[in-house]
Amino acid sequence: MYLDSTMLLLIPALLLALFAQGRVKAVYAKYAKVPIATRVTGAEAAQRMLRDKGNDAVTVRPVQGRLTDHYDPRNNTLSLSEEVYDGASVAAVGIAAHETGHAMQKQEEYAPLSLRSLVVPVVSIGSNLSMPIFILGLVMSWQPLVTAGIILFSFAVAFSVITLPVEFNASRRAVDMLLSSGVITTREEEKGVRAVLNAAAMTYVASAVGALLQLARLLLLARGSRSRD
Ligand SMILES: [Zn+2]
Repeated sequence: MYLDSTMLLLIPALLLALFAQGRVKAVYAKYAKVPIATRVTGAEAAQRMLRDKGNDAVTVRPVQGRLTDHYDPRNNTLSLSEEVYDGASVAAVGIAAHETGHAMQKQEEYAPLSLRSLVVPVVSIGSNLSMPIFILGLVMSWQPLVTAGIILFSFAVAFSVITLPVEFNASRRAVDMLLSSGVITTREEEKGVRAVLNAAAMTYVASAVGALLQLARLLLLARGSRSRD
């Protein structure tokens, strides 16, 4: 029923997402095999950089899985996947430093991060309900419901767009901290870290593009249904 021409809008988004996912895995695999000269692990790097920045409120802990690294601003916990936690590679310290960048954003009350945390509750409800509400609105030809679905979905779009400055900023901080704390010491290591972080950033760009195209599709579908009334 919703296999219409607007579906075509989602194809570039899907291709971009697949490309970004594949690339992040490949670049990670490559640089996980490149050791750094200082032999500092991801966990040690995070702890050292936090100490150098005077941020002693963060808990650094290992977490299962691959590329499951994340920072949770609610409990100020930096979770590093086992390979990153114990790894002394270019990829490990790059990812550890990126998550440390998020911890520093929290400490410095970096506005886009605060804004993103503010949108999270609405997004988690909205992303589950927006499509059912939208489709029900179309089926019932009831415009207020269609509009409500679109508004709810817009929060998910806003979230993925606000995520971009948050992620790019964390990666910028990561490279600065790795250099100033002396975790990485060569141009080659810096280049590798940038490659890993840029590949990761691409996945966020892909999500944002996907969300925007999906929103465009919903708007086209809504207009189509209105003109049929
Ligand atoms: Zn991040």
